[in-house]
Amino acid sequence: MKYYDKLIFELSKPGRTGYSLPEPASKDALSAIPAGLRRESDTCLPEVSEPDVVRHYTALSQMNFGVDTGFYPLGSCTMKYNPKINEEIAAMPAFSAVHPLQEDIPGINEIIDGLDHALCAITGMDHFTFLPCAGAHGELTGLMVMREYHLRRGDTGRTKVIVPDSAHGTNPASAAVCGLQVVEVKSGPDGLVDVESLRPLLGDDIAGIMMTNPNTLGLFERQIGEIAELVHGCGGLLYYDGANMNPLLGMVRPGDMGFDIMHLNLHKTFSTPHGGGGPGSGPVGVKAALADIATSLKVSGFHGNFGVMLRAYAYILSLGRQNIRLAGKLSVLGANYIKESLKDVYKLPIPSVCKHEFVFDGLVNDGAHDDVKGATTLDVAKRLLDYGYHAPTIYFPLLFHQAIMIEPTETESRETLDAFIDIMRKIAAEAAENPATLHDAPHTTPVSRPDETLAARHPVLKWQDSI
Ligand SMILES: *Cc1c(COP(=O)(O)O)cnc(C)c1O
Repeated sequence: MKYYDKLIFELSKPGRTGYSLPEPASKDALSAIPAGLRRESDTCLPEVSEPDVVRHYTALSQMNFGVDTGFYPLGSCTMKYNPKINEEIAAMPAFSAVHPLQEDIPGINEIIDGLDHALCAITGMDHFTFLPCAGAHGELTGLMVMREYHLRRGDTGRTKVIVPDSAHGTNPASAAVCGLQVVEVKSGPDGLVDVESLRPLLGDDIAGIMMTNPNTLGLFERQIGEIAELVHGCGGLLYYDGANMNPLLGMVRPGDMGFDIMHLNLHKTFSTPHGGGGPGSGPVGVKAALADIATSLKVSGFHGNFGVMLRAYAYILSLGRQNIRLAGKLSVLGANYIKESLKDVYKLPIPSVCKHEFVFDGLVNDGAHDDVKGATTLDVAKRLLDYGYHAPTIYFPLLFHQAIMIEPTETESRETLDAFIDIMRKIAAEAAENPATLHDAPHTTPVSRPDETLAARHPVLKWQDSI
């Protein structure tokens, strides 16, 4: 039995402790605590020794998977290895001990200005506001800028935003939160926005379009120049979801493609460990004509998530112009290498060259026969856990039924990519021979395959005697 099979409450023995406290110097010390604040009954905490506690938490930490423990090909999230120097700089007391209410510290302002300057150079925008604390928060802020732009011109009928069907779910959600109506534009068979489907949607009720380029299939929207002309032509603005900026670094700039407003996910493209929902930073960049509006919006307190901004600045400065460009190119090379190495065993619905990520649509041979159910994308993802890998993003984007979205990032070596490819091929072979073995994977993890519906409806969030 593994250590973590026993919960710390089960190790508890009455009277056992991991500490000893001196007796209070006088009985009066206790009476100094106001009566209402004194504990009247036991805390009901486990009674365990110090080694038990240390082993319990160490075992928990080892059950965690992170990019520091292994390959993490989660598409649409850019889970890259983050250089430790960025962490060290962010932890320096000169930064970490600054109180948010300390306004106008010259060094801090210099860093924010320097980052603003670097991001403008990378994106082709003229000004960034750093208040938004995540990509989705940036989307909302950017759409507020868009709406305000139209209102200030007295153009009050622009209530709709066009969003492609391949978009990340936060795009339509942000538009709805901003009070704008979402109009979906279809992708063509090549996975790109279909310009002919876009044309009839344009009119004087359109505030603008939200686009991700490369899109969530990892494909560059080659007709972006024409799309920009059409949207501007009808009086709308172009919003760029910068979550996929990684492969474009130093090569192409959203500002040159015709975008007016954008966000970057500093925690994706520019370092910062961000598993488990945070921390993030989603600065919004705008063209000069919109800078006044952007600076007038107060969407969060203080200066935003300064620690994340600092890591981004350290990352950009330590890489420098040439290596930033190389990071983008390597992310594209890695993704295409995996795609080409696996496309004979996993279905590749769109065969063109991808950018930093790509999408398979399940297995070529899922092993289904007679009444044996074939292996699904979920089975493949769960089986990967047995082999020590984090699963890719699955069932997103929604364009395919068995989507497997893989993003290797630029930080992985050829050997790491080869090892992953070998395992993906091995799983494909297992599926073809005996799909049933995959249905109940994973077998080696502390928790096997939970009933996800039950877990969502009736989550067990604390230890109970009965389980
Ligand atoms: C991650 C992501 C977002 C949302 O960003 P958060 O920082 O998670 O709020 C939006 N769009 C795309 C394409 C993304 O990958």
